Amino acid sequence: MDYPEISFEDRMSTVDFQVSQRAHIEVDSEICNSCTTRECVHACPANLFVPTTDGGILFNYEQCFECGTCYLLCNKQGAISWTYPDGGDGVTFRKG
Ligand code: SF4
Ligand code: SF4
Repeated sequence: MDYPEISFEDRMSTVDFQVSQRAHIEVDSEICNSCTTRECVHACPANLFVPTTDGGILFNYEQCFECGTCYLLCNKQGAISWTYPDGGDGVTFRKG
């Protein structure tokens, strides 16, 4: 299937992004301390999981585009609490 040529600027003009006041994802760094695989660090396409020198994970939800990859891959119960942002916050796709 062929897709019509569309510039990056035009494509992005169909997407709204509003940073939420509430963190829609929370990471329990204490649980992450015992994680040896660190899937989140390698898989998050926005690079939002950063290992700290004390073995924990630093996470910033503000640039998250809600793909859900971290939640699917993390195999430590309770390490990631995942919800969608409140209505109107986060990513909104509109028809261009
Ligand atoms: S969020 Fe999950 S995958 Fe990432 S370091 Fe913590 S326990 Fe490991
Ligand atoms: S939902 Fe996607 S973009 Fe957001 S933190 Fe998880 S992996 Fe990264």
